[in-house]
Amino acid sequence: MNDITSPDFPPSLWNAVTRPRRPASSLVDEVRVEVAIIGAGFTGLSAGLHLAERGHKVVVLEAAQAGWGASGRNNGQVIPTMTGAEPDTIAKCHGEAGERFAQLVCDSASYLFDLVRRHDIDCESVQSGWFQPAHSSGRVRLSANRVEAWSRRGAPVRLLDAAETADLVGSRDWYGGMLNSSGGHINPLAFAKGLADRMVAAGATLHENTPVRSIEKTPAGWVVSTPEGRVISDQIILASNGYTDWFESRLAPKIAHSLVPILSWQMATEPQPDAVRASVLPGRQALSDTHGDLRFFRWDARGRLVTGGALMFPFNGAERLKQRIGIRLARIFPQMGVPKFDFVWNGRIGMTADRMPQFYNPAPGLWTWAACNGRGVALATSLGKVFADAIEGVGQQDLAVPITPVLPIPFHPVAKLVAPTVLGWYRVKDRLEPAYH
Ligand SMILES: Cc1cc2nc3c(=O)[nH]c(=O)nc-3n(C[C@H](O)[C@H](O)[C@H](O)COP(=O)(O)OP(=O)(O)OC[C@H]3O[C@@H](n4cnc5c(N)ncnc54)[C@H](O)[C@@H]3O)c2cc1C
Repeated sequence: MNDITSPDFPPSLWNAVTRPRRPASSLVDEVRVEVAIIGAGFTGLSAGLHLAERGHKVVVLEAAQAGWGASGRNNGQVIPTMTGAEPDTIAKCHGEAGERFAQLVCDSASYLFDLVRRHDIDCESVQSGWFQPAHSSGRVRLSANRVEAWSRRGAPVRLLDAAETADLVGSRDWYGGMLNSSGGHINPLAFAKGLADRMVAAGATLHENTPVRSIEKTPAGWVVSTPEGRVISDQIILASNGYTDWFESRLAPKIAHSLVPILSWQMATEPQPDAVRASVLPGRQALSDTHGDLRFFRWDARGRLVTGGALMFPFNGAERLKQRIGIRLARIFPQMGVPKFDFVWNGRIGMTADRMPQFYNPAPGLWTWAACNGRGVALATSLGKVFADAIEGVGQQDLAVPITPVLPIPFHPVAKLVAPTVLGWYRVKDRLEPAYH
C-alpha cells in the first residue's frame, strides 16, 4: 500500500458541507458475482447502478470511500464537452464510434441532471448552463466553430458577443464565448454519496476500505484479490481512472502508464456579500474559459465562489495559490476585491497529449477507461450506461465509445515529472493568442 494514502477525505469544501455517510463494510470473504467493479467514483457507481437496475449481480470494491478520488474533489462543473478534443476531430479519427462518442458527450450533462432527478439525489444540482468565455478575440472564432459543431449534434448552444458575456459573467475580461444551457453544477461529493446509496438500494453490493491488490484471469473467471477477501467474477470494470496506481502500483501498470496524472488545485472563498453575489455570474452558470492556464468558477449553495488553479511545482501550493488566485479574482471582479479562501485542496487528473479520453477492452471481460483530461463529471456518469451495455454484450461496433489498444506512454516516470511544466508553455501561448480587432 502506498503509505502517503489515507482513506479519509481531503479537507475540501465538499467534505465540510456534505452529510457524513457510514462507510460500507470491507470485504472479508470470497464472493462470486457477474461483475466486479474496482473504484467507487462516478464511473464505478454509475456502472454499478445501471447494472443493478438491469438485474445483474454486482460488487463494487473501493480502496477508500465512495467519492474519495477525483469524483469527490472536483469543481462540480457539469460540462458537455471535452477540453481539447473537438467533436469533428474525434469523429474524423474514430469514424462512427467517434461520432457516437461525440454524441454521448453532447448529451452527457442532460444525462447527469436527468439521473439526479430520476433518483432524487440531493446534491445541490443547478442546471443553469455552462459558459466557456473566449480570452482573446481570436479565440471567439474557436467558440464560433464549437457552437457550429455542437449545434449540428443538437446541443443547446449559442455564441455570446462581448457585451452579452460581460452581462453574464459580471466582468469585461472576455471577448465572447459559447453558452451551453444543458450544463451547470453540482456538489460532487454529495452526488457520489447519493449515487452510492441509490446503487446499493438497487441491489449492488459496495465494500469500502477494500483496496484491490491484483486482478487475474483464471479458468474459474476473473479473480480480484483484496487484503482479506476475493471476488470471482465473469467480467470486471476497472474504474480507478487517475488513481489506478495510487493504492497498488502493480494493479494495472500499462493502463496507469497510458496517462499522465496532473494535480489540479481547487479553492473556495469565504461566503461573499449579497452585492458581490448579485453581480458576479448572477445567472449561476458554471464557467471555464479558453485559457490553457484555465480560469474557472462557479457559486456553491452557500455563497462561496469555488475556483482554483494550476501550479508547475506543488511546493507550498495552497499558500501560493491563495495569493495568486486572490489577486487574479480581484482583477477580474473588482467588485469582489481579494477574497479570503476558506478551503484549498487538490486531486489527480489523468491527461493525454491529444486530450482525448481512452477506452480499453484489454482482455475479454475487462473494461476500463482513463484520462478524462479534466472533463469527467458528466462523462463518467454517462459511461456507467456504456459499460453496462458492454457487459451485456453490445459489440465494439455499436458501443458509444471508440475502443483503442492500451499504449503506455514511453519513459512514463520522466513524462510525469515534466508534464506540470507544460503549464509554462500554456501561459506563453495564452499571451500569444491572436487578437482580431
Ligand atoms: C481537482 C479536480 C477538479 C475537476 N473538476 C472537474 C469539473 O469541474 N468538471 C468535470 O467535468 N470534471 C472535473 N474533473 C474530472 C472529474 O472529477 C473526473 O473525470 C471524474 O470524477 C472521474 O471519475 P472516476 O469515477 O472515473 O474516477 P475517480 O473518481 O478518481 O474514482 C476512482 C476510484 O478508484 C479508487 N481506487 C483506486 N485504486 C483502487 C484499488 N486498487 N482498489 C479499489 N479502489 C481503488 C479510488 O479510491 C477512487 O475512489 C476534475 C478532477 C479533479 C481531480
